[in-house]
Amino acid sequence: MSQTKETSILTIEPTDHPTPADKRKAMMANPGFGTTFSDHMVVIHYSEEKGWHNGRVMARQPLPLDPAASVLHYAQEIFEGMKAYRSPENEILLFRPEENARRFRHSAEVMAMEPIPEEIFLDAVHKLVDIDRDWVPDGEVGSLYIRPFQIASQPFLGVKPAKEYIFAIIACTVGSYFKDATKGVPIWVSENHVRAVPGGTGTAKCGGNYAASLTAQAEGYAHGCAQVVFLDAIERRWIEELGGMNVFFVMNDKTLITPPLKGTILHGITRKSIIALARDKGYTVLEQPYSLDQWREDAKSGKLLEAFACGTAAVITSIGKVCDTHGDFEIGENGANNPVANELRESLINLQYGRAEDPYGWVK
Ligand code: PMP
Repeated sequence: MSQTKETSILTIEPTDHPTPADKRKAMMANPGFGTTFSDHMVVIHYSEEKGWHNGRVMARQPLPLDPAASVLHYAQEIFEGMKAYRSPENEILLFRPEENARRFRHSAEVMAMEPIPEEIFLDAVHKLVDIDRDWVPDGEVGSLYIRPFQIASQPFLGVKPAKEYIFAIIACTVGSYFKDATKGVPIWVSENHVRAVPGGTGTAKCGGNYAASLTAQAEGYAHGCAQVVFLDAIERRWIEELGGMNVFFVMNDKTLITPPLKGTILHGITRKSIIALARDKGYTVLEQPYSLDQWREDAKSGKLLEAFACGTAAVITSIGKVCDTHGDFEIGENGANNPVANELRESLINLQYGRAEDPYGWVK
């Protein structure tokens, strides 16, 4: 992990009660996803008068927030999700962090928030990962999940863009997102609920998009599915993405199809990386609309060999079965036969963990 910034607005205040090493190791042995938090956090404030100021790397603690803070009422909030990996040489690596910084800026613009300069975002990520490097696990699958976020903190009950913000970063040790990512997961097609509409906030990583996806998620769980796939809001016909992942379809002619970025789906960094990796492996990758009807037909005819979801948290996860009220269908022997997803996952993970040469310059 190389740091380029010379000057920083952050002061470093190490915690005076770090988690004892034996306790930390016990916590990290079975981290789950999103519950095993590291010792520190970053907090930076914004006001119109002072700009971005009072940046601190400090002990993880609750945020003091006025009950009128506009995030609590009108959900002016954005976040990012990225990971730090430990290489076999014991280096701590980040994967395309500048893409997260750029997407965070985009999310801020969509939500009418003050964008934090990308170099401050990156400096803050580096400083937190550095101070909490002991929380980055060794081994094949674990990593430190990093969660930058920004909230409107101005105490003001008017529906307007806020003039005060808090930017913060927390981190947690994580294992695998799904219990067995190499087996296919069942997914539920959301017919009644849409995630994003043209002209809406679908391309932003804002909390509201995720809050709006929870009813569909609950419906999916009730039908025994691990995830939900959303259709477009207008025709309810075209596949968009999952609640927290983009999606790819592997056809029997060395072609991969993924829905195009037309303003309603998140510009996934894993998606972008897979497109580049797959093309370099000789696959044709088409960013084009793919309908649910086509998916069902291609799965039945054998034209579709595999389907997989991808994202920072879940990496690449095969889809074994698609369920909806019109009847379930299976893909690639219920997700057991997924050589393309496996090949791409292997290449991606090897880059992320510094186990392979990085011709792309993605690993920082
Ligand atoms: N779509 C949504 C809705 C997501 O929340 C995520 C996770 N950030 C993704 C796609 C995948 O994005 P990335 O590969 O950048 O993690």
